[in-house]
Amino acid sequence: MLKIINPANGRVLAELPQDDAASIAGKVRAARAVQPTWAATPLPDRLTAIRRFREGVVRDAERLAAILTSEVGKPIRQARNELNGLLGRIDFFLEQTEAALAERQVHAETGLRELITHEPLGVVGNISAWNYPYFVGANVFIPALLTGNAVLYKPSEFATLTGLEIGQLMHVAGVPQDAFAVLVGAGAVGAELLKQPLDGLFFTGSYATGARVAQELGPRMVKLQLELGGKDPTYVCDDVDPAAAAASLADGAMYNTGQSCCSVERIYVHEKIHDTFVSAFVKEVKGFKLGDPSHEDTYIGPLTRAPQLDVLERQVADAKAKGARLLAGGKRLAGPGNWFEPTVFAGVDHSMELMREESFGPIIGIQKVADDTEAVRLMNDTEYGLTAGVYTRDEERARRLLAQVHAGSVYWNCCDRVSPRLPWSGVGHSGIGLTLSTYGIETFTRLKAWHLRD
Ligand code: NAD
Repeated sequence: MLKIINPANGRVLAELPQDDAASIAGKVRAARAVQPTWAATPLPDRLTAIRRFREGVVRDAERLAAILTSEVGKPIRQARNELNGLLGRIDFFLEQTEAALAERQVHAETGLRELITHEPLGVVGNISAWNYPYFVGANVFIPALLTGNAVLYKPSEFATLTGLEIGQLMHVAGVPQDAFAVLVGAGAVGAELLKQPLDGLFFTGSYATGARVAQELGPRMVKLQLELGGKDPTYVCDDVDPAAAAASLADGAMYNTGQSCCSVERIYVHEKIHDTFVSAFVKEVKGFKLGDPSHEDTYIGPLTRAPQLDVLERQVADAKAKGARLLAGGKRLAGPGNWFEPTVFAGVDHSMELMREESFGPIIGIQKVADDTEAVRLMNDTEYGLTAGVYTRDEERARRLLAQVHAGSVYWNCCDRVSPRLPWSGVGHSGIGLTLSTYGIETFTRLKAWHLRD
């Protein structure tokens, strides 16, 4: 049985039967059987099913937000924000799928035409993370279904109740039971899914697990996408209002209790405004309300996974031992649940784990830099490359710097932002492939090249 635990108080919310090798194989077989029928269903009917799914989300939003808060500890307002954001993503896919799937003639001459069409991949697996289960799940399963694939969806074991709700809403909306199957369980269930005959696997999670997934699937030539972690940097130039930049970046670092793949995890500040920025940043962080995530005014909740408390403690001890200055927080809180104080360090450098390993919690290091060249060198001193930002009044300066940074998404005067219209991808250990944008629709298809002579 899988125990679902409320991370705010350690209480067991539910105990659920898990999938096993036999049930997973059965769901994959059933998905394979139904997939051609689902793919042959006219696109307007598939769009209608997803539109009904959207209506279900709107109707049940308050209940779904409460479930999400109870199982991952996301503060209730942020849970509602996630559901609202989900609607925007669904709308984008509803509007764009027909055009993205349209047949394209790329050449014509007397007696010859060349065309490109999109075929569904077939049966795809979607192994997902818990930190934004609606966002990272929907980036995959909505376009995968709209393009005619059957989906085996394994939500994170920490977001299982949400995953089951999503399944239920899909089926009520008219997506055939076997075309969208939810698998219940932890890593072993994900590993079992990988052994099945799949036509594609779309994974969101940590670099460590992603590397294992790639090892398993690489030799089998299964189409693979990996959306992995980050250690996202931002550089604050000397020409900005330090207080405004601090307010924006404190939110970027601490929103969702620092558990976003694109949370700001490293801040570099020009030496001319460093001290003013740091004081303003600490003031912002000390103003964040930590508490029961079901309360309306809570901004910082518990960590979803208990073992991450050890990671944060280790990063704090390492930073202190190497001479960093602790300016706020720094320790776990006693009592049931997984609580860690919002933590700010200045005087950090790249010898410290805090500036090298993904923290995935409410903790941040701020480092002083002498100039733009040093900032770019430090931003690129990482194996990851999900997002990166620059705060400056000067667009030309921002674009020059961001062009040199290795990251899938770059931000000028903003951070921790995802748009359905733009591709979401990573460089290096942040993964391979992409979701979102029209490319993130096409990625669930196989392109077929037609050479037609008449
Ligand atoms: P995780 O790697 O622990 O787990 C991800 C999923 O993989 C879960 O469903 C888990 O059950 C499953 N899994 C575990 N072991 C497996 C195995 N051997 N084979 C197959 N599946 C297995 O990650 P997490 O803690 O759920 O998520 C946090 C991580 O996800 C962070 O690193 C975060 O940055 C990253 N993330 C990235 C993005 C992005 O878009 N790039 C979005 C959200 C989260």
